[in-house]
Amino acid sequence: MHLSMQQKKAVRTPLLHNRVEAVTITHPERVIDAASGLTKLDLAQYYASVAPHILPFLRNRPVYLLRAPEGIDGERFFQKHRGRMSIPGIRVFDRSLDPEHAPLMAVESAHALAGVAQMGGIELHVCSATADRIDRPDCMVFDLDPDADLPWSAIAEGARHTRALLDELGLRSFLKTSGGKGLHLVVPLARRHDWDAATDFSRAVAQHLASTLPDRFTATMGNDNRDGKIYIDYLRNQRHASTVAPYSVRARPGLPVATPLAWEELDKVRNASMWNISTLPDRLAGLTHDPWEDYFSTRQQLTASMKKKIGMKKK
Ligand code: ATP
Ligand code: MN
Repeated sequence: MHLSMQQKKAVRTPLLHNRVEAVTITHPERVIDAASGLTKLDLAQYYASVAPHILPFLRNRPVYLLRAPEGIDGERFFQKHRGRMSIPGIRVFDRSLDPEHAPLMAVESAHALAGVAQMGGIELHVCSATADRIDRPDCMVFDLDPDADLPWSAIAEGARHTRALLDELGLRSFLKTSGGKGLHLVVPLARRHDWDAATDFSRAVAQHLASTLPDRFTATMGNDNRDGKIYIDYLRNQRHASTVAPYSVRARPGLPVATPLAWEELDKVRNASMWNISTLPDRLAGLTHDPWEDYFSTRQQLTASMKKKIGMKKK
């Protein structure tokens, strides 16, 4: 009897486990990252395993998916609205949230996370507001985008400077690797400020850093301005922008993960893609406490005295 390769494989591994959180993963053995040999099943199992950690950052929040069904070297697209193919477990928001388009989506269970992986969803990006108060962001994001030539030590130093300014203003910030090249600082907000207020404030923070440390920072977009510096991207704080969610995988070689860190850990971090879907679960298992344990209980307001310190003019 002649058996195809696939049949031979099936004989050898009759119980290939392709059910994850009640989702059947088709093509579980498909290699989605040639660099690491990691598969679609690995991706689904990663998302299932970090569900308790990632779901709090996704609850009731519009989520945008970077999908790459053939793997990270194949075609990819950024999906902001429900598409023609339904994703197992996904919830859709009321049309009023974004009346011009198909409904926005939410991923709010381990089942839906496995559904995302099944549909070739690799990265999860989130809006900085929840659906119940979409006009009031609940965080500000400072995305530190380093010039390609910068050594990691300068990137880490840039994050420390940014944190120091925020501390001086009385604002607590939370650090994560982007899983790509840089670092993100996230400042939780009480939901009292509108998008313009968050953008204006974060722009003033970025400009203040760029004017006090002009060798290190620029607040002006474009590679020409970045020469040897870190661009502080504050435009993440606009209504329709998004940021990669904590614990999201990135569609880059090695399948790195955007990893929340305690500030004390920054010294031992070597690059922004240090943790990946193979190593992140071990990191979590080895932690004595959640590095962002205070994140959801921190609700901060932007005050007149803070604005004065960073040179914002009264309106
Ligand atoms: P790095 O550290 O490498 O800069 P990053 O996550 O900060 O990583 P990008 O990977 O460049 O930066 O992400 C770009 C930003 O734009 C993300 O915040 C993402 O939410 C958003 N984004 C990505 N792709 C699209 C797209 N096709 N359309 C709209 N927004 C996108
Ligand atoms: Mn970035």
